[in-house]
Amino acid sequence: APATEASPEIIFRSKLPDIAITNTLPLHRYCFERLPEVAARPCLIDGATGGVLTYADVDRLSRRLAAALRRAPLGLRRGGVVMSLVRNSPEFVLSFFATSRVGAAVTTANPMSTPHEIESQLAAAGATVVITESMAADKLPSDITLTVVLIDERRDGCLHFWDDLMSEDEASPLAGDENDDEDEKVFDPDDVVALPYSSGTTGLPKGVMLTHRSLSTSVAQQVDGENPNIGLHAGDVILCALPMFHIYSLNTIMMCGLRVGAAIVVMRRFDLAAMMDLVERHRVTIAPLVPPIVVAVAKSEAAAARDLSSVRMVLSGAAPMGKDIEDAFMAKLPGAVLGQGYGMTEAGPVLSMCLAFAKEPFKVKSGACGTVVRNAELKIIDPDTGKSLGRNLPGEICIRGQQIMKGYLNNPEATKNTIDAEGWLHTGDIGYVDDDDEIFIVDRLKEIIKYRGFQVAPAELEALLITHPSIADAAVVGKQIEPEIGEIPVAFVAKTEGSELSEDDVKQFIAKEVIYYKKIREVFFVDKIPKAPSGKILRKELRKQLQHLQQE
Ligand code: ATP
Ligand code: MG
Repeated sequence: APATEASPEIIFRSKLPDIAITNTLPLHRYCFERLPEVAARPCLIDGATGGVLTYADVDRLSRRLAAALRRAPLGLRRGGVVMSLVRNSPEFVLSFFATSRVGAAVTTANPMSTPHEIESQLAAAGATVVITESMAADKLPSDITLTVVLIDERRDGCLHFWDDLMSEDEASPLAGDENDDEDEKVFDPDDVVALPYSSGTTGLPKGVMLTHRSLSTSVAQQVDGENPNIGLHAGDVILCALPMFHIYSLNTIMMCGLRVGAAIVVMRRFDLAAMMDLVERHRVTIAPLVPPIVVAVAKSEAAAARDLSSVRMVLSGAAPMGKDIEDAFMAKLPGAVLGQGYGMTEAGPVLSMCLAFAKEPFKVKSGACGTVVRNAELKIIDPDTGKSLGRNLPGEICIRGQQIMKGYLNNPEATKNTIDAEGWLHTGDIGYVDDDDEIFIVDRLKEIIKYRGFQVAPAELEALLITHPSIADAAVVGKQIEPEIGEIPVAFVAKTEGSELSEDDVKQFIAKEVIYYKKIREVFFVDKIPKAPSGKILRKELRKQLQHLQQE
């Protein structure tokens, strides 16, 4: 029965027991807590060169970099902000932990961003130092006072990461541990250490303040405890094909990987063939991916000829992935466990994680996004009344726990609209919890199409569409028609090469799979679906295209 005024809220918890979490350490200490045991083990493996940095190397180099960041001309202090504008690289990891040591925050950005995007983020975050590479350096604004550090090239007016900041010269006055201790005297676990930006799928990206406390809690929820939710260990080799400037890779690959003492294979950028090479060469055991990569592997002929047998766990997250894709993928990697996590930058980011990854695994269903992480509470609310809902009833997903963000940067208004007075973070995602505590995401609240009073989730139709052999990719949006009807579901479809698929074929394919009100009413063939690299469909672009088409 639905909750009434008097009845208590319906709250969902993990099947794993709560654990004691130490979340008052500086994040770098927390992630490197096992350093004495794993010092000699490989930490970062450069995918391109095969070069290896051990845990001891990463610790030593990040201390050295921290000392350089504190010195003139960089002069970074607690509360300062560094922008990291680099592709995946050992330098990314060193910069992150060096900044944490200083008590400052890293704001991460995609080096493919436009000059305007970079400038807005620099200004909003108040960064004084940018660590970047030559491909992005020309896009930096000239009118803001910035110290620019280049990782790959010497240039006038810029410092060189290795030559200027990391010189081996023993005569140079490098500050070591003493300074760390000095910083830690004034350290507060609620200091911001990471300032990632949300993906900008629904509007402008928002700066998200994640603290030492929130990130160490999130890491603990994933990999700590006697039966960790993700059963990683020091012998694992984790593939890092996803960009570390995004919180998924930053947290679940980099931080969790370091916490357990695993080796991380760093790829500058994703490439299917190169990825499979690296899996074979380094006997990768853990592959965190996003749906477009899962689809690429599932549809790849080459994958069958590769020895991917070392992989024991494949994680997917950041965007919806349907059951059929999961099943097709599993046929290629029968020895691995495939499961999903559900994350949102503001949530620290992980809300739920597949329990088949646990050290002592649970049975799970394909298509589920995992179970709420331990030491956290999740509820599903009716978006209209705010009342909490029971099992199998879709509503807005809300989460509470110490892992969630401190707030949006310089935006108390937006923060108040997202985190309520009781500490619940409202995700804007619609989903439900089933009888086995598994979460199924239906769609984003704002994307749900309302047709004659019925609700249609674009994600469900998209998952169906891409199972068609002649459809390479697809997206569904609502098209506004007469007020009494509301919106009709229309599909944008990219055909596979040489296919002669017609509008009618598409409509009929869907019509035989869904209830009448979910039928696709119009189809537009396009070359490409506008998408973020994570697989998130940029529906705002499609709506623009739709307006255009209607005006023609
Ligand atoms: P913005 O908030 O700036 O518009 P964004 O919400 O896409 O962008 P992120 O924080 O990167 O930015 O993404 C979080 C969102 O991604 C979630 O709110 C959810 O809609 C989606 N998502 C994440 N994981 C999954 C998953 N496993 N299945 C379905 N959707 C997911
Ligand atoms: Mg969002």
